[in-house]
Amino acid sequence: MPGFVDPHTHVVFAGDRAPEFEMRLRGASYMEIMAAGGGIMNTVRATREASPEDIVNESRKRLDRMLAHGTTIVEAKTGYGLNTAGELKMLEAIRLLDQGHALDIVPTFLGAHAIPTEYKDHEDEYVSLVVDEMMPAIEAAGYLDHQAPLFCDVFCEEGAFSVGQSRRILQEAKDLGMGLKIHADEFNALGGTALAVELGATSADHLACTPEKELRLLADSDTVGVLLPGTPFGLAETHYAQGRKMIDLGVAVALATDLNPGTCYCESMPFVMALACRYMGMTPAETIVASTINAAYAVGLGNEVGSLEIGKKADLLVLDMPDYRHLSYRFGTNLVETVIKAGRVVS
Ligand SMILES: [Zn+2]
Repeated sequence: MPGFVDPHTHVVFAGDRAPEFEMRLRGASYMEIMAAGGGIMNTVRATREASPEDIVNESRKRLDRMLAHGTTIVEAKTGYGLNTAGELKMLEAIRLLDQGHALDIVPTFLGAHAIPTEYKDHEDEYVSLVVDEMMPAIEAAGYLDHQAPLFCDVFCEEGAFSVGQSRRILQEAKDLGMGLKIHADEFNALGGTALAVELGATSADHLACTPEKELRLLADSDTVGVLLPGTPFGLAETHYAQGRKMIDLGVAVALATDLNPGTCYCESMPFVMALACRYMGMTPAETIVASTINAAYAVGLGNEVGSLEIGKKADLLVLDMPDYRHLSYRFGTNLVETVIKAGRVVS
């Protein structure tokens, strides 16, 4: 079968948040942890302090495990720098990892991942920093000249970026020729999905509480809905995106790990597929489509990878199983026997 494309990850970071995991198990909510200066800012501090080499070395091990579990293309976001130097350092780390690893990485600029603590109560000033300083610096550093496009993403959520702030950032990114993505409707429905459709975004991601009206807009658009069932699982929450309903409405649904140190430290697409079958009403076949061809379209590579077709890149998996349904039927062990990347056995 084709290799998995993981179209939404925060795989590049320093440190970990195991203590926070235990804190959450004792009852603290994600937003409470964030308000207490933990959450994303914890990883931001660790990533700001780390050298590019440290970030590369820590992240490379995660990419190795993703490859071993059958992922041949991974999207990777910045967003743990949250200042111009830190975001550029992350883009540099992503570039080094892409060059030095068998996996291909699609880079995404997520300067608008969170409001850094130093901009608390001055949120619009931070948005100005993203638009007026970070984006020109990224352009000046040559990241917009590559053949593969750079994406821009925004975390549109209460306590993060409003729809108006998200629109300002994404419109600027669009004007610079960047592809667009958005974290929408993870905890609160603010209108991020409608914004994604309006701006012609490549994907709208999370969609755990998107109203039906916006799901219909998504179905009528070319924007892919990227669902991340590992995240509610990682948070021990019971509310999952309505994958079944979205597919029935005609939304192009993709799956991704959302690999990140806070809410979902998961490197396995097959595990995400297992969750999608059980908690989002998707069939085993639909989870394969969502993890290959639809996921390829979610990173703008639908014409190059994601299916076994003449002329496409030979990113292939050999699986040790009697039937394709075993991919999501079984979980917790790795059934990927051989990984072939661009025609070469790599794992
Ligand atoms: Zn994310």
